[in-house]
Amino acid sequence: MDRFSSALLERFGAERALVARDQMLAYECDGFTIHKSLPRAVVLPETTDEVQAAVRIALAHEVPFLPRGAGTCLSGGPTPTRPSLVIETARMKRVLEVDERGLWAVVQPGVVNLALTRHVEGRRLNYAPDPSSQTVCTIGGNLAENAGGPHCFKYGMTSDHVLGALVVLPDGELARLGGPAGPRAPHEPDLLGVFTGSEGTFGIATEITVRLSRDTEGLRTLLGAFASMEAACGVVTDIVARGLVPAALEILDAATIRAVEASVYRAGYPQDAAAVLLVELDGVELALDDDAAEVESIFRGHGAISIEQARDPEHRKRLWKGRKGAFGAMGRLRPDLYVLDGVVPRTRLVETLREITAIGRRHRLTLTNVFHAGDGNLHPNIAFDARDHDERARVLAAGHEILALCVAMGGSISGEHGIGSEKIDHFRLMFGEDDLDVMQRVKRAFDPRGLCNPDKVLPSRTACAESSRWPAMVARVLDAEPPAAESGP
Ligand SMILES: Cc1cc2nc3c(=O)[nH]c(=O)nc-3n(C[C@H](O)[C@H](O)[C@H](O)COP(=O)(O)OP(=O)(O)OC[C@H]3O[C@@H](n4cnc5c(N)ncnc54)[C@H](O)[C@@H]3O)c2cc1C
Repeated sequence: MDRFSSALLERFGAERALVARDQMLAYECDGFTIHKSLPRAVVLPETTDEVQAAVRIALAHEVPFLPRGAGTCLSGGPTPTRPSLVIETARMKRVLEVDERGLWAVVQPGVVNLALTRHVEGRRLNYAPDPSSQTVCTIGGNLAENAGGPHCFKYGMTSDHVLGALVVLPDGELARLGGPAGPRAPHEPDLLGVFTGSEGTFGIATEITVRLSRDTEGLRTLLGAFASMEAACGVVTDIVARGLVPAALEILDAATIRAVEASVYRAGYPQDAAAVLLVELDGVELALDDDAAEVESIFRGHGAISIEQARDPEHRKRLWKGRKGAFGAMGRLRPDLYVLDGVVPRTRLVETLREITAIGRRHRLTLTNVFHAGDGNLHPNIAFDARDHDERARVLAAGHEILALCVAMGGSISGEHGIGSEKIDHFRLMFGEDDLDVMQRVKRAFDPRGLCNPDKVLPSRTACAESSRWPAMVARVLDAEPPAAESGP
């Protein structure tokens, strides 16, 4: 056994230091299953001291290291690119403090997103950002990805709900960024803002102070079914243009509706619809019926083929079940799923979706769409079989074209899933050499030795200089047959 493994075993014991190759298999990828690579070792710390100890052991042996929450990331963030130490926060799942009057809580990073809301719901509080993976994903992962979710149209992303973090920096030292009073003191740089969304490349958050929200007085949840995607998107544009601010505006296309209705996530969505739009309104009871009536009238103005309004909490749960389970339902179509994430201006949704459909057809792929329409945040889903080398190549080529299209439409290559390893080579679609230079300098300021989650987010200079037809990531995946897996110790 090498010295690095011995040091981990000595500090964490065999139950919490995994060093055997077969123990690594569960960590070979995240939700972006195209990028697979085994870590060198995994540790399961329970405290800030233990995270610090793990980082220091890695530094002493010059081993790259990276944090991992629940591994639901869709861009390869918690998957190593070199034989690395994975520091998994699953055992750091305690809610440390709740201040009901101050409306904040301090949590360990492994607390599951929905578990936090469950923890405070008896006090009529909730944690607003609600990724569709909320039953599994962790607050640490949310902070690192600046996660969004259906209700972020009204309430904002994770960055709007994080007040502070205790961070083990890449050199093993501790830093406290922000706190209950807010993300920064007056006149100080907003380091918490810089850390939020840094995808595990600037250190490991071991305690996170989050903002809690009061439950609103009432809710109205409506589902409109439409004969065309144009009509559903037109409703979204009109709702926003009229000044209504729903909590959520979510669209599912016909193929997604069919997959959902054939699955355990069946929600009773009309199967003859080309698209369904889920609208949730929240606020004071007095105003909600008028707002719901206005939404219904906009639905009708765009020729809705059916309109349904939740009568009670159970009915609401059913309407949401299909949306929240949509990605899972895709498992019925093919064994693998590539979930893309791009943003376009809301007013360009229709033309972008038309182009995306054409890209899917051109590459002979099963492509469906379910998305946060209010934010213009698209999630084209490509169902495929990764064992089919040719199909895998077409999936990646289509993905690249879709992201380039989003940028061409005036949007961006990520709304909420981050860059990770998936989009590292797409960065150049949006940023120039000068931008990269600044970002690389910030990375070096946090991580001068370059050992904290290396080869993520920022492309290297040589990768930048490569042609943009086949980004290096795509080329690497295509070269690897069968899918690459780095060997353990
Ligand atoms: C079915 C499904 C639906 C999804 N829906 C949404 C959605 O609606 N909105 C959305 O935004 N995302 C969504 N996602 C993506 C994913 O759930 C989010 O990115 C989530 O924030 C990842 O959390 P995690 O705990 O799984 O983190 P991981 O996947 O384990 O890690 C994600 C990144 O965070 C870093 N990290 C983890 N813990 C820490 C820490 N303590 N300190 C510093 N860095 C850390 C890792 O290194 C990695 O780079 C979805 C994913 C799935 C599979």
